[in-house]
Amino acid sequence: MNDSSSSKFAHLALQGGNKSVAGEIPCWPPQWPSVLEAIQRTWSDGSWGQYHGKTVQEFAHTFAEYLGVKHVWPCSSGTVAVELALRGLGVNATHEVILAGYDFPGNFRAIEAIGARPVLIDVRKNGFVLDEAQLDAALNEKTKAVIASHLHGQLANIEEIKRRLQNRGVSVLEDACQVPGAKLASRPAGTVGDVGTFSFGGSKLMTCGRGGAIVTDCDASLQRIRIAAERGNDAFPLSALQAAALTPQLDTLDDRHAQRLRAAKRLREALSDSRIFRPLDDVWDDADSPAFFKFAIQIPGHHDREYLLQALTAEGAPVFTGFRGFGKRSKRRCEQVGPLANANIAAQNTILLHHPFLLGGEALVDQIGEAFQKIDACFE
Ligand SMILES: *Cc1c(COP(=O)(O)O)cnc(C)c1O
Repeated sequence: MNDSSSSKFAHLALQGGNKSVAGEIPCWPPQWPSVLEAIQRTWSDGSWGQYHGKTVQEFAHTFAEYLGVKHVWPCSSGTVAVELALRGLGVNATHEVILAGYDFPGNFRAIEAIGARPVLIDVRKNGFVLDEAQLDAALNEKTKAVIASHLHGQLANIEEIKRRLQNRGVSVLEDACQVPGAKLASRPAGTVGDVGTFSFGGSKLMTCGRGGAIVTDCDASLQRIRIAAERGNDAFPLSALQAAALTPQLDTLDDRHAQRLRAAKRLREALSDSRIFRPLDDVWDDADSPAFFKFAIQIPGHHDREYLLQALTAEGAPVFTGFRGFGKRSKRRCEQVGPLANANIAAQNTILLHHPFLLGGEALVDQIGEAFQKIDACFE
């Protein structure tokens, strides 16, 4: 590095310069009065302590209506939702399940928990979701299901995945844990696959600290889920208190979704000239409306991600690494179709911004954009 660039580095907060992000990042979840009131209502009417009170049913009903889906099975986490959903699709230990080489780690484990074999295929170039063009090479007579997750602000093409599986007896699990509120060609994410899964974990876009749900139109899948979950009682329940906290969030989810989408577009715009920090280049129109549990950025492989993360953190940007990917998993545990080149790039070169800043207003989004621009300018 020459003298002029070292003086640029000197402006970085990491080197003692001023922080780019002066604004406060909102806490998550916020203290919604409607949630407090709902929890207090279960206290007053005594339903908070019941196994089969009305509160969980009311949530399931309201969520089913919001999504336009026949069945909602509330459960204790998104991870359990994925496992139960696979069982709902009839997956057993004789089967193979296709998933992307870059995905939530628990999805791999959910397949293993059933005794089925994970078969890994690549993700889209410069992206994070399963590449449907790779499906053909992975399908065989043992394939029972495909897990397709919407990740980091990118939507999997569930319609196209289903089209490619037609007449092959293979079902699609649409993992919508990161994207309540998102739409695929105007249809709510989670309802396009044969079964959909949601998470209500503490950091997620709909949250009660823990919890999840499986959604489906299929009666037979619901029946298999019921049999897998009932062990004398519901072994993986969502509690009445959790359900109470979730129901009022549905009233305002669409507003928050729209606000997050606007903020994501604004940040993407701020990064459009960056050479180091590349946001997803997906086209977002009104029919396809991605949700942002994380806002994703990829960096070229020759840059030092650890250093960039430190520099961004020092600027006050809420950055994290992505998933580690499954490219290094042992061949004893899974099948790999092809070299998973894009999945490995996603695992190594991704920087994620956690979502709460998207609700913090335009000034905050601009400050975060400036943090990236400032670091980018050091590498001219
Ligand atoms: C969070 C998440 C899950 C699991 O949800 P938990 O409620 O944390 O168990 C599953 N899939 C994806 C894509 C997720 O982001």
